[in-house]
Amino acid sequence: MLQDRVEEYLGAIYRLRTGEGEPLPLSQLAEYFGFSPVSIHEMIRKLDDGGWVDFHPYRGVTLTERGEASARALLRRHRLWERFLTDSLNIPWDEAHLIAGDLEHAAPELVTDRLAEFMGEPDACPHGGPIPPALQSSEERCLRSLGAGAEARVTRISPETPALLRRIAKQDLIPGRLLRILAQTETETRVHLQDMPEPALSIPETDAQAIWVELM
Ligand SMILES: [Zn+2]
Repeated sequence: MLQDRVEEYLGAIYRLRTGEGEPLPLSQLAEYFGFSPVSIHEMIRKLDDGGWVDFHPYRGVTLTERGEASARALLRRHRLWERFLTDSLNIPWDEAHLIAGDLEHAAPELVTDRLAEFMGEPDACPHGGPIPPALQSSEERCLRSLGAGAEARVTRISPETPALLRRIAKQDLIPGRLLRILAQTETETRVHLQDMPEPALSIPETDAQAIWVELM
């Protein structure tokens, strides 16, 4: 839930600002969310501490590189769901916006990418909002999509949900780690980690969907 709130704020800053790098006054966020200036200020402080935004006293808030990437990914999911809901399910566009607001937090990146493919890589939502392109380079693949024998380097963990990040940290599957896939079944991916004391790991399917790698 905290991650959802962080994303809500990053998405709102991205939507409301007048241009990239332009500080957004906190009064606009207060108006958008209908919260008091004090609670907006408190949340912005937390986001600043977390490295998501930079707070500029008296001027407003800008997104850091990390915040920018997260906001773009959120808008991409939101607008792709809107397209699907209106075009494929014939849901009116005002309702589609509300439903997409829930779905945007729930779907893993693999689903978003498949959805984009399924909808023919649309470049705008039904309301005309541009759909940001996927961030990962074409060589980046989801661990789940590879087969036994593949050798790869971990590049990214996404989505960055806290519980998932804790599990992945425990297995030491941090970006830069080299691995080889021993076996891939419906429920788990077994990998061999290079230069690690405990080289063989079993990764549940849901976690493997969030681990992005480049092939060696
Ligand atoms: Zn839209």
